[in-house]
Amino acid sequence: MEHLKIDIEGSGIVHIKYNEPMSQHTSFKVGGPADILIEPTEVEELKEALSFVRQHQLPYYVIGNGTNLLVGDKGIRGVVIKVGESFGDIEITGDEVIAECGVLLSTLSKVVARNTLTGLEFASGIPGFLGGAIAMNAGAYGGEMKDIVEWVEVLDENLELQRYTNAEMEFTYRKSIVEPRNLIVVRCKMKLKKGNQEEINSIMSDLTQKRKTKQPLHLPSAGSTFKRPPGFFAGKLIEDAGLRGFGIGGAQVSELHCGFVVNNGGATAKDVYDLIKHVQQTVFNQFGIKLETEVKILGEF
Ligand SMILES: Cc1cc2nc3c(=O)[nH]c(=O)nc-3n(C[C@H](O)[C@H](O)[C@H](O)COP(=O)(O)OP(=O)(O)OC[C@H]3O[C@@H](n4cnc5c(N)ncnc54)[C@H](O)[C@@H]3O)c2cc1C
Repeated sequence: MEHLKIDIEGSGIVHIKYNEPMSQHTSFKVGGPADILIEPTEVEELKEALSFVRQHQLPYYVIGNGTNLLVGDKGIRGVVIKVGESFGDIEITGDEVIAECGVLLSTLSKVVARNTLTGLEFASGIPGFLGGAIAMNAGAYGGEMKDIVEWVEVLDENLELQRYTNAEMEFTYRKSIVEPRNLIVVRCKMKLKKGNQEEINSIMSDLTQKRKTKQPLHLPSAGSTFKRPPGFFAGKLIEDAGLRGFGIGGAQVSELHCGFVVNNGGATAKDVYDLIKHVQQTVFNQFGIKLETEVKILGEF
């Protein structure tokens, strides 16, 4: 494992950490050190960080709250840019909401609910930041980010802020143009509707209850490990393949929800990775269906 040697001191970049364990930045609670982790606190700092990594041709990866990531035990050779809580502004005018990428979806849904706005209830239990949710077109219980986003402001490869409309974002199932075009989501405008306070609260508490009973929220995971294959449910296929509760090392197919691989205590990233591969192979052998991961896998294992 060859660590990247970069003289970043004197570059003007602040908020840098070296050899930062990614287990502290991911909901799986696994993952070795990133050579460098930069946490910009404003757009100018983000631009400086990007400009530095581009100029030095350093490999880099942008993360949000790390709730959809599996990072290898040997970590990441290169730079991780975490766009986090400092990008936390929320402005509400009537039924229009402009929010920055580091706002937690759970916080945002509570804030808009308090303003009697409906449309974001589906996202209240998704543990990511808004930026990650836009990049992934996160969704749940019949709603997805695509339904509510009006425009998204991104930092493009030329370090320019660009505004893309909903149509230009090309949202599809758990996908948008963000990753393929190397964009960084900075903020977005959402259009919601005036609703009824009691109804909004009741939808949100129903969904919270559903998650509590159907998902293994007490164990570290990255949510649904696999995408839904067209016409099927990943969890059902995994259950039918006899893998409920199957484990490798500290990683396990959740007993409660077979679509979740969980860290049952002391899992390594390799355990999780090997289990993902085993599940994919078993489901393919039995049903001829390829399960694609929803979780992004990065770094060295
Ligand atoms: C218990 C649990 C339940 C979950 N339930 C759901 C669910 O119901 N529905 C669902 O869709 N997901 C769910 N997830 C997965 C995850 O929360 C979502 O995918 C979320 O949107 C990821 O956001 P994040 O900030 O954590 O992104 P990260 O995990 O940090 O990153 C995910 C992807 O987004 C990119 N990214 C992050 N921030 C930015 C940015 N600012 N600009 C550009 N790219 C960025 C990263 O490069 C990466 O490709 C769940 C996860 C857990 C742990």
